[in-house]
Amino acid sequence: MSVPRLGVLALQGAAPAHMRALSSIGCPSAPVRVPDDLDGLDGLIIPGGESTTMSMLLESSGVLEPLQQAVDNGLGVFGTCAGMILASTTIEDGRDDQHALGIMDLTVQRNGYGRQRDSFEVDIDVDGHTFHAVFIRAPRIVSMGADVAVVAHYGSDPVLVREGRHLMASFHPELTGDTRIHEIFVAGLQDSRMQGG
Ligand code: GLN
Repeated sequence: MSVPRLGVLALQGAAPAHMRALSSIGCPSAPVRVPDDLDGLDGLIIPGGESTTMSMLLESSGVLEPLQQAVDNGLGVFGTCAGMILASTTIEDGRDDQHALGIMDLTVQRNGYGRQRDSFEVDIDVDGHTFHAVFIRAPRIVSMGADVAVVAHYGSDPVLVREGRHLMASFHPELTGDTRIHEIFVAGLQDSRMQGG
C-alpha cells in the first residue's frame, strides 16, 4: 500500500509535533498554509491550538473554502483538540464568528472539562491497549451523529471518534511520542482508498 500524501494545517498551533509523529511512522507530511498546499493531499491533520484564532486565519489565508471542497472530494481529516472543534458541526461556548466546518457530525463544548481541570493527563484504552492522553483546555464531545464510532472513552465521554476516513481526538496524541493514533488515522485513509472512497 502506497504512503498517503499528508498535510498538517500550520496556520497556528501544534503542527511541528504532528509532522514529527507522521515522519516517525514513515509518512512525510507538508505544512498547509495557503490553498495550493492542499493540492493532491489524501489526509490533513488540523492540530490543537486556539480554535477561534485558527478559524480567523482559515478565512484570511483563503484556505477555508478550498479545505471544505477538498473534504467534499475525499480528503480525510484528523482533528485534535482545537482541530476537533473546527471540524465539528456545532460548537458550544464558542465565539459567534467561529466557523464549524461540519466535517464530522459532532457537537462539542469548548473548554468542556472546566477551569479547574485546565490540563490533565489520563490513561485511556485504545483497542485494548493503554494510551497516555494529554488534555489541554480540551473540548468535550456533547453529542454525535449515529454514524460516528467511538474509538476511546475517558470515563463516560467519547474522546477519540471516527466517521469514515475522519478521526477526531479531544486530547493531544502528538505530545507523548506514542504514534499509534497517527497510525490509526493513516490506516483509515488507506482502507478508504482501497474501497475506492
Ligand atoms: N480551548 C482551545 C480552543 O478553544 C483548544 C485547546 C487546545 O487545542 N489545546 O480552541
